[in-house]
Amino acid sequence: MSDPAHRSDRFGERLRRPLWCYLWAAPNSLAGLLLAAIACGAGASVRHVDGTLEVADGRIMRWFARPQRAFPFCAITFGHVILGLDHALLARVRAHEQVHVRQYER
Ligand SMILES: [Zn+2]
Repeated sequence: MSDPAHRSDRFGERLRRPLWCYLWAAPNSLAGLLLAAIACGAGASVRHVDGTLEVADGRIMRWFARPQRAFPFCAITFGHVILGLDHALLARVRAHEQVHVRQYER
């Protein structure tokens, strides 16, 4: 639909949070976006979920999933960007990572 009110609702729905939350966390989100760009260059994919970008899968994430990896993690949050080994895992840890997103917003 092209009526502005409807568009505005959808925009607010997609952000899910007040704009200042995104601005306050922006320096950390930028670091996450840089890592996300590198991960996407190696085949990771991005999903927009609950006002964040979830980045997972791809060759780099598979490397982190190896048992002998140097930096063990299954998911990590930078502002409004959440990096994880795969999207199924991100769905399972979403509530926990959203706590970290709220911490960045404060
Ligand atoms: Zn945690």
